[in-house]
Amino acid sequence: MPVGTLAYHVVIVGGGAGGLPLATGLARRHRRRGDVRVTLVDVLATHVWKPLLHEVAAGRMDADAHEVDYPAIAYRHGFTFRQGAVRALDRARRVVLVDAVHDEEGEEILPPRELGYDMLVIAVGSESNDFGVPGVAEHAIPIDTPREAERFHRRLLAASMRANARKAAGRAGRVDIVIIGAGATGVELAAEIRQTTRMHAAYGLDRLDPARDVRITLVEAAPRILPPLSEAIAAAAADLLARLDVDVRVGRTVTRVTSDAVHTADGAVVAADLVAWAAGIRAPAWLAGLDGLETNRANQLVTTTTLQTTRDADVFALGDCAACPWPEAGREGAILPPRAQVARQQAAMVVRTVDARLRGRPLPTFRFRDYGSLVSLGELAHVEHHAHTGWHEQQREVPRQSVGRSRQRLRDRAAHDERGE
Ligand SMILES: Cc1cc2nc3c(=O)[nH]c(=O)nc-3n(C[C@H](O)[C@H](O)[C@H](O)COP(=O)(O)OP(=O)(O)OC[C@H]3O[C@@H](n4cnc5c(N)ncnc54)[C@H](O)[C@@H]3O)c2cc1C
Repeated sequence: MPVGTLAYHVVIVGGGAGGLPLATGLARRHRRRGDVRVTLVDVLATHVWKPLLHEVAAGRMDADAHEVDYPAIAYRHGFTFRQGAVRALDRARRVVLVDAVHDEEGEEILPPRELGYDMLVIAVGSESNDFGVPGVAEHAIPIDTPREAERFHRRLLAASMRANARKAAGRAGRVDIVIIGAGATGVELAAEIRQTTRMHAAYGLDRLDPARDVRITLVEAAPRILPPLSEAIAAAAADLLARLDVDVRVGRTVTRVTSDAVHTADGAVVAADLVAWAAGIRAPAWLAGLDGLETNRANQLVTTTTLQTTRDADVFALGDCAACPWPEAGREGAILPPRAQVARQQAAMVVRTVDARLRGRPLPTFRFRDYGSLVSLGELAHVEHHAHTGWHEQQREVPRQSVGRSRQRLRDRAAHDERGE
């Protein structure tokens, strides 16, 4: 079938943990037959695997070295890439509207465009939710995009250099870092930052004693860290954080963030040179009211288990921006958690959905297979929770390679799942 004419056109908006494997999977499957044309749209030109952003923020990973170019992947796998932000949709005409792209000087590189589709998949992820807490937007940095992670790292470096210079001049010098939210992201970020500070001397910041002069405080509103994981895992992680000199304060609700402190509801004031906000997420605000599609309070597009949005059978949503029912959770109204595993498994299913649609067969429904969670606490340790067995593992003093292997194991399992093995 000649590409560009009769081929069934699938447009995917967002090339992250869900959208990118969907684009490559679909394009590879239909490349020879030419019966499906795939277009991926992303606001950025390059992709960085989001679960690695805390390593970028801590300065332990260079985003540039780990990013991949969408146009190059598109060329290799046989799909089309279009850069630009999508914020509007015309369902009656079946077109998405792609914003203009500008260079750093504000010059327009690409004009606004319209893209027609037969099937649309929205996979734009999530952004940090400040829950309206005063001062968060001005003074705290979320770790949601490579740019934010790099900004956090630059601020961390500047604060460390300032404190080092003060100490070199014989004055008091200290860096106070506060991380708000002790979910997996906050916990991992705290551990990674501690690893960075332990290497300060190697980078000329030799006046700072990592344990004494760089204070890392993790603040959590829930009664314990890692609320979605088991008590045993949380206890193991808390023990490891204590060994990393991270001050963990649970049951403290943040009420205000200022330029130099974090205030909690119990009246405590924690000094802060640098604040990371990792306390919650929501889908982008523009999804609410997107041409009449149903969304929930977190702006997520409400879908059925086929991942079709409830008001338009040709518009699908997956990953963090979708509120997909999770019947296996056994709780009324439960929706799938915002995790890379979910997004990847959903992408694998949508590849089969396209086949089913082309053949006029019933669409597959999504069932999440939880392969567990891995919380990496930097080079020294990690904790794992395996959902099926309830088994958990805590390793101390393991070399980084082992953590890498362990991460790889989880990814491998996810890949097996995608292949239906
Ligand atoms: C620091 C950190 C650590 C994490 N660690 C883990 C982990 O260990 N395990 C785990 O399972 N999950 C982890 N997560 C969560 C995981 O990253 C997300 O659940 C996952 O990335 C969601 O995939 P997605 O495809 O929905 O969105 P994303 O991967 O966020 O991709 C969204 C894509 O959409 C693009 N986009 C956004 N808006 C627009 C627009 N308007 N127009 C066009 N394109 C747009 C973005 O540029 C991006 O490429 C972590 C998250 C963070 C922040």
